[in-house]
Amino acid sequence: MNRIAILGSTGSIGTQSLEVIANNPQLFEVEVLSANSNSKLLIEQAKQFKPNAVVIADESKYKEVKDALLMLPIKVFAGNKALDEIVTWDNIDTVIGAITGFAGLNSVLAAIYAGKRIALANKETLVVAGELVMQLAYEKRVQIIPVDSEHSAIFQCLLGEDINKVEKIILTASGGPFLGRKPNYLQNVKASHALQHPNWNMGAKISIDSASLMNKGLEMIEAKWLFGLENEQIDVIIHAQSIVHSMVQFKDGSVKSQMGLPDMKLPIQYAMGFPNRLQNNYKRLDFKDYPKLTFEFADYKTFRNLAIAKDALYKGGNTPCVLNAANEVVVNAFLHNKVGFLEMSEMIEKTINVVPYIEHPTLDDYIQTDQVARAYTNEFLKKSQLSSY
Ligand code: NDP
Repeated sequence: MNRIAILGSTGSIGTQSLEVIANNPQLFEVEVLSANSNSKLLIEQAKQFKPNAVVIADESKYKEVKDALLMLPIKVFAGNKALDEIVTWDNIDTVIGAITGFAGLNSVLAAIYAGKRIALANKETLVVAGELVMQLAYEKRVQIIPVDSEHSAIFQCLLGEDINKVEKIILTASGGPFLGRKPNYLQNVKASHALQHPNWNMGAKISIDSASLMNKGLEMIEAKWLFGLENEQIDVIIHAQSIVHSMVQFKDGSVKSQMGLPDMKLPIQYAMGFPNRLQNNYKRLDFKDYPKLTFEFADYKTFRNLAIAKDALYKGGNTPCVLNAANEVVVNAFLHNKVGFLEMSEMIEKTINVVPYIEHPTLDDYIQTDQVARAYTNEFLKKSQLSSY
């Protein structure tokens, strides 16, 4: 039995992880579930999966959750600090990091520190503090298995290979709902449109990141740390069908890819079951449905977020942390119609330009950088809203 804690169980990755568990009750047992504020779904999940404990980050929802689970032997905690403690419990084998954004960093670090196996969806953890996270994982002999479909693909392609024989990796990007669009179109798009991803059904933040190609930029940084690559070894290509999940090109010119239907349950199940491949009855890829797989260059000029993120990758230090913080702020503003789609890149770039650079940040530096960057971006947002009246 693999005893699982799901951080962010009420989200897109969290609910799909529970589907995988429900399909494999002989292999997995739920120990901990957690949500930010969606108490209703957390209660429902707790009643169905009967974990040892649940955590609701929003402390104002504690009583509601506690009362609803009163008759069940389930411990109820509130606040993110509780989560950082609970992930260290002895009865947990694997922690699924599926909280969105910087908010997911501490609990993943706490879990690594406690020696838990990590199935990592929360890419922001590696974007913000990849070097530190991977160093800690190395020291604690902790395995981090990627859940992100592109990184899961690369992880699978690298099995049995010598990392020194890798020439480069090629991350595929669907291009999102605005593939092929130009700035005159993008300046008027709204969140409702940007949320309509053609291939994947995901949480709001990553859906906007996919539409702006920031997601691919974040993934470049995530890949660098996960696989220990040089910046020059990380490439991106647009592949609108999302069938080839990513590729590795080796020094002999050979290219390996991993393919499948765009269904996050596959990489989630792979990460949870690794090193075993578990059987399932999910829909199979039928190549007759995809007579044409296409590949094209990414438009870095129109989708400036991708260029900004690539620059942040090369700049290193605390710049990816600034990038992430500014992006979280503008994505939230865009979701509330408070900033335009193209303006998001401007705000992120401005923030990167003003936050002091730190070449070798500590965890405290990252925490401080995150706060400072958010404050600047919020200031820029306020100014831009004032100037639009
Ligand atoms: P969702 O927004 O759907 O879910 C996020 C989860 O995290 C929810 O359970 C949410 O709780 C919880 N949460 C959010 N903020 C906090 C906080 N401050 N403290 C504690 N818990 C919090 O996101 P996704 O599932 O789409 O994405 C999760 C992560 O996985 C992201 O990092 C994303 O980039 C990555 N990922 C997602 C993919 C996908 O297909 N969805 C694909 C690849 C990677 P509540 O419901 O209460 O708000």
